[in-house]
Amino acid sequence: MSTAGTAAEPSAETEEDSKPRRPALSPSRASDFKQCPLLYRFRAVDRLPERPTKAQVRGTLVHAVLEKLFTLPAGQRSPDQVKAMLEPAWQELSAERPEWAELFASGEPDEVSDWLASAGTLVDSYFGLEDPNRFEPEACEQHVEIELGSGVLLRGYVDRIDVAPTGEIRVVDYKTGAAPRLIGEAKAMFQMKFYAVVLWRLRGVVPRQLKLMYLTDGQSLVYSPDEAELRRFERTLEAIWQAILRAGKTGDFRPSPSKLCGWCDHQAHCPEFGGTPPEYPGWPEPDSGEESPLDRAD
Ligand code: SF4
Repeated sequence: MSTAGTAAEPSAETEEDSKPRRPALSPSRASDFKQCPLLYRFRAVDRLPERPTKAQVRGTLVHAVLEKLFTLPAGQRSPDQVKAMLEPAWQELSAERPEWAELFASGEPDEVSDWLASAGTLVDSYFGLEDPNRFEPEACEQHVEIELGSGVLLRGYVDRIDVAPTGEIRVVDYKTGAAPRLIGEAKAMFQMKFYAVVLWRLRGVVPRQLKLMYLTDGQSLVYSPDEAELRRFERTLEAIWQAILRAGKTGDFRPSPSKLCGWCDHQAHCPEFGGTPPEYPGWPEPDSGEESPLDRAD
């Protein structure tokens, strides 16, 4: 599913796939740059490979079945129905991404079944937070894209959009990651405000609610933005994009060490850890804003 447009005028979604993709800002890459410009460079410019963790792949799997959940009619959406989808969904995912299946090459007989059971625990946790039989989402895993008046292109995927009969919009994101909630919370709220700006500019309505559902610890965080705040946040995104473009011209992406370095795959290339970055390959064309399925399932 896809929604794209400019701030002034939505464009036809059928054109989207046929056009070469312009450089764009996604919430994951914007957040990377804010955290550490060098991390942004490694991911978006050098595109250094990252080895996914089982927790990240489990997140992708759980997102996939929570999307499929809403293809079932209301009344039939139960934890057991969704948990029964895990195994076939994993077969599909691992056929598309054989490198993910290689994470389970230890030879332990119960490795995959234990991991699928842990995904089932996240599904149970989801059902503890809401009853999906009581509403119909407008969209799941929706691609959204908007060009702001300043020319910055924002792009991303929203886990779920709910629209009340009164027209109020709720943006929902499932968090399945293993990182402690407090460390990821600022990043998660940044991502939600990013989507709120995109939907506000696409639809002319400020989303009433941004809802983060933390499936690992079974808690929700709900936030209601206002228009003035989204306007300020839009300016922040524009400033981040301008800073990225400036760094992109010169290759001057500086490391910014923090406690989040512990989650960075690129310490071996990072001067803060005694490493040397690869030679700067130049600004990527046509696209530096793409998010991977793992980005979308953190
Ligand atoms: S290790 Fe830390 S400072 Fe170095 S690139 Fe990664 S996030 Fe940035």
